[in-house]
Amino acid sequence: MQQEQFNKQLFDFLHQASTPFHAAEYLADHFHQAGFQRLLETENWNTEPGKGYYSIRDNGTLLAFRIADEPCEFTPWRMTGAHTDSPALQLKPLPDRSGNSYTQLGVEVYGGPLLATWFDRDLGIGGRVTIIDENDTIKIRLLDFRRPVVTIPSLAIHLDRKTNEEHTIDRQNHLYPLFSQALHNDASSPFSAIIRQQLQKQYPDLSLREILGFDLFCYDTQPPTFLGIKGEFISASRLDNLVSCFVGAQALLQDKVFDNCLLLCSNHEEIGSSSVAGAHGNFLQTALERLLPNAPSRQTTLNRSFLLSLDNAHALHPNFVEKHDPQHLPLLNHGPVIKYNANQRYATTGRSAALYKTLAHEAGVFPQEFVMKNDMACGSTIGPITATNLGIQTVDLGIPSLAMHSIREITGAKDPYLLFKTIAHFYSRPQLPQYEE
Ligand code: ZN
Repeated sequence: MQQEQFNKQLFDFLHQASTPFHAAEYLADHFHQAGFQRLLETENWNTEPGKGYYSIRDNGTLLAFRIADEPCEFTPWRMTGAHTDSPALQLKPLPDRSGNSYTQLGVEVYGGPLLATWFDRDLGIGGRVTIIDENDTIKIRLLDFRRPVVTIPSLAIHLDRKTNEEHTIDRQNHLYPLFSQALHNDASSPFSAIIRQQLQKQYPDLSLREILGFDLFCYDTQPPTFLGIKGEFISASRLDNLVSCFVGAQALLQDKVFDNCLLLCSNHEEIGSSSVAGAHGNFLQTALERLLPNAPSRQTTLNRSFLLSLDNAHALHPNFVEKHDPQHLPLLNHGPVIKYNANQRYATTGRSAALYKTLAHEAGVFPQEFVMKNDMACGSTIGPITATNLGIQTVDLGIPSLAMHSIREITGAKDPYLLFKTIAHFYSRPQLPQYEE
């Protein structure tokens, strides 16, 4: 696949995957169409050589894998990991707030968004709704208005003259999105009635009795776009980390792969990964126990295996050069960035980086390298968690980006495709590079 076609499909995914649930569903559909079979965690798994499978936990975490054509006892697993969630505003369980003619919705802050970027945006609402139907069956349905329905207006500068110097956001009082206005003394509809209408629109055959719960988020509705005079940049919402999910899926779906190949796209990375669906949960561990039931040979296999943990990296910001270590200045459009941290907030070591660099060189991709400045706190991601749980050699890497955790993030137009080239090569190299022990 060429870069232009790749970016076109990436844009479609970024736009459709409005929430982690929609991301997992979109990718699952693609695997299903490619002949992968769905496995349920509530049943035993019977897998066969040469076939592809996928499983979804808690609607927002997706595991997909292909078994080698002729697996032997210690056939390695070539793994990539990414995350489906992005910082957002999540609706509270009882969100309705009415007054001054408006209906507004109470939200909690999910993860660490740059909150100022959420003001004056055309926001949609999407996520997961749990209902009980007329036959007493509890059902889960994904909901998405697929259009702007809320916004959080800024306060005019005339009402706060110091806003450009000392702008602070009160998370409890300043973030209620506008949802509706009651005109002519009409009582405006409570939110649950609107959700019911939307579900009936999306699922006309659903015999909905009652809504029992929901996990709904506000999200940016603006489609991704190229920008820069030559279209050299990509501006989009949720680049962190949907690009990595998409890249991993496309690489796993290529015609020919070797060994066992696996992709895990986890929810809840932005809030620390400790949940049933997060990387601290046991989804991958229990999946490997099902696939490799013998514990000692499972660990031997994992010691021959390798994980590329994919999550976006900070590119050099030209307006804030002082925020970067002067010897480590990743650039947009120069390809994936290896992330290091002496305190193992990233799982990369000199040993694991060697394997990735070998793959990157062979794929014709230059490996960029990043460390945080010593006087600044370093982020983390799923790499160290999975490396710790499985005892698997791991590299943390990702596309260079600007404005991470803004509602609109920036990357280079070449970067997603350069990441794809390395991951596709990782899965399709006849043998993993070998270490002399
Ligand atoms: Zn991320």
